[in-house]
Amino acid sequence: MIKALLFDLDGTLIHTSEEYRYSILEKTLGELGTSASKKDMDKFWFKSGRDRLITNNFQVDSDEFWEIFQKYDYIDAKKNFIKPYEDVNFIKEMKKAGFKIGVVTGAKESIAFLELGLIGIENFDSVIAAGYSDIKHKPDPEGINLCLSQLKINNKEAVYVGNSEEDIFAARNAEVLDFLIDRKECKFPNLHPSFKINSLYELKNYIF
Ligand SMILES: [Mg+2]
Repeated sequence: MIKALLFDLDGTLIHTSEEYRYSILEKTLGELGTSASKKDMDKFWFKSGRDRLITNNFQVDSDEFWEIFQKYDYIDAKKNFIKPYEDVNFIKEMKKAGFKIGVVTGAKESIAFLELGLIGIENFDSVIAAGYSDIKHKPDPEGINLCLSQLKINNKEAVYVGNSEEDIFAARNAEVLDFLIDRKECKFPNLHPSFKINSLYELKNYIF
């Protein structure tokens, strides 16, 4: 029986405008004296293996990259470019229906809480924000496992919903049922999630 619903945050519950996604990378890479194609920038946001992409495609040192990236990726810069997807009321309904709700994100805590505040922080029972913390990033299962243990839920009682490859791989590594939500921002022809949904409301078909 499913008792907990776990979600990725960016691109799953919160939409970030394309303008922000490109501009933060352009600024970061610009400071490193380089630039990237839109295709590579989309890969950065949506595909797994970011450090490899930074080294191989952007051709910069990944530690240096992240140091500059975090300088630009901060609340005041981001707040005007984000909004919840229209279907996030589903979360409030499911919370009322008795499900535990968790978030496992690679974002840093300050940004995660700003974003969740747009939905209503009271709807979330556990928030794991791996950004600039010791928690290993997806596809490592550590974040999902930590969330499950905070919720006192075992992995067969939860689902994980995300919008990108790393989410599906993290869910599988944690042996939690994986759902890819298609927000029409990126295509994954070679990714085979257990379930694909177009709206959070479609989860109802699987969790009751
Ligand atoms: Mg995401």
